[in-house]
Amino acid sequence: MSQERARTIDGVYGSPGLHWVGDGFRVAGVFSRVPDAARRLSPFLLFDYHPPYDYSPTERPRGVGVHPHRGFETVTLAWEGKVAHHDSTGAGGVIGPGDVQWMTAASGVLHKEYHEREWARRGGTFHMAQLWVNLPRAHKMGPPRYQALEAAQMGHVELPRDGGTVRVIAGEHAGTRGPALTFSDVTLLDATLRVGGELTLEAPSAHNLAFLLVSGELEVDGRRVAAGELVTTRNDGDSLKLTASQPSHLLVMGGAPIDEPIAAMGPFVMNTEAELRQAVRDYEAGRFGHLE
Ligand code: MN
Repeated sequence: MSQERARTIDGVYGSPGLHWVGDGFRVAGVFSRVPDAARRLSPFLLFDYHPPYDYSPTERPRGVGVHPHRGFETVTLAWEGKVAHHDSTGAGGVIGPGDVQWMTAASGVLHKEYHEREWARRGGTFHMAQLWVNLPRAHKMGPPRYQALEAAQMGHVELPRDGGTVRVIAGEHAGTRGPALTFSDVTLLDATLRVGGELTLEAPSAHNLAFLLVSGELEVDGRRVAAGELVTTRNDGDSLKLTASQPSHLLVMGGAPIDEPIAAMGPFVMNTEAELRQAVRDYEAGRFGHLE
């Protein structure tokens, strides 16, 4: 018989204000209000949430031009709208609703991120998220990699009593694994709950575990959580039970913390200041490759 212990809630953080990334991504920095976020949420470094927003039709797709990354992964999830990505390794692709783009920058890429051209021409509602996932020291200078994870590849778990659905992007839920290849233990779940639906998240107490309630309302650890709130948990148990009081959509992030120093500057996340300076030198010397 298992000795499950319930995790308790560490913090509930309201949505910060929105800012623009380029001219195509109107986002909230979900982790920006969390004290000691890099440690509490490791291996996740950053979470830009793009709430639903209507873009007018345009012949010039909005987005972010060519920029570098080194030392971590960018994970982009599409719920509405389409994003196109191209990078200096020659990888690229388009993601649409339900798809995920898991880009390992590692030793360095240049890339650009835009609304997909045909979608931009029609315009419409855009709803996305981008997470930055740290890499362990041993993999920061490894080769870049690009994983296009399509909606149909995701793990799929129906919750008991018709309570809702969990899409498993990375890691595992209730014995079902997601398709993403990762360099440390990472769990990423996209869950939809019906009213009264119950979701029990299992995670070893040493792992970090948090979720953003994208929409709806739910109860957890005796607290009511509203749409837009980020919930972080303590490392004091191995299960967390959520009950939806409204139809709810949430993104669950978990994983083994990477217990290494972080030196971060803009698009570079390394372990030491010397490695950051090297990243800048390599970028300025054109060693991240070439992208028009
Ligand atoms: Mn980027």
